[in-house]
Amino acid sequence: MKIIDVHSHLYWENGRETGWEIPQAPPGPLGPDVYVEAVGQSSLSTRGRMVIYPGSGLDKLEQGPEMLRRINRAAADLVEMAPELFILGFAPDPFHLDETLRLMERYVRDLGAKIIGEIVPDIAGYDREGPAMDAIYEKAIELDVPINNHSSTAEDSAAVGRLAERHPEARIIMAHIGGTWAFREGIAVSRNHENVWVDTSGWPMVAGGIMEVALRELGPSKLLFGIDYPLCDIDTWVERLDRLPVSDEDRERVAWRNAAELMGIDL
Ligand SMILES: [Zn+2]
Repeated sequence: MKIIDVHSHLYWENGRETGWEIPQAPPGPLGPDVYVEAVGQSSLSTRGRMVIYPGSGLDKLEQGPEMLRRINRAAADLVEMAPELFILGFAPDPFHLDETLRLMERYVRDLGAKIIGEIVPDIAGYDREGPAMDAIYEKAIELDVPINNHSSTAEDSAAVGRLAERHPEARIIMAHIGGTWAFREGIAVSRNHENVWVDTSGWPMVAGGIMEVALRELGPSKLLFGIDYPLCDIDTWVERLDRLPVSDEDRERVAWRNAAELMGIDL
């Protein structure tokens, strides 16, 4: 069965600042070649593609617009190296809104970015909501691309719910089913908003029962497969998807069809 992972990241520091590593990588900074090799050897490589969002540098966005350009350039370079493995995501920077809106247009229209994300206020230090975030959401609507918005607390999920209400045309993927310790709130927000889906990336995929609860309460049309590589292991997460006790038709929805429809792509 085909697979789209809607949620993974490019880190170039190999976790030395952030606490995680690509086990296959040599010590030192990461180049895109390490990603191409590691993902190329994984069980994902023969079945589909990985959405890659900038990872390193998000915590330094505030320092100046150069970091916004650098992190998105690095992700675009990776996707250009191996378009058969990766789908490009664009990370916005509310601290530098004009440049973000300009680059969003360029990345979606010219460089093939299919999704905006991950929006991670807790790491990047920007506000969950506010005029800049509203402008980014409106731009995503104009460019007809979905947005992946991080959530790991009930407050995060509530903010996603308010964004969904203010921007009813936005297609919002709430990451991590709302969070390992707050998935019930995340599920409720998705259930109450037609335009909020959830992705399984991170621990909810393997933490007992969270995926099953999401499936039961939201149905297979609202759930998208996500890994959060390199924080999480590709093969383990794919195996978990394969073992999910659902019909093939429902598994197909979760594994790739919902994601393909939201991003307007074919696999
Ligand atoms: Zn996240």
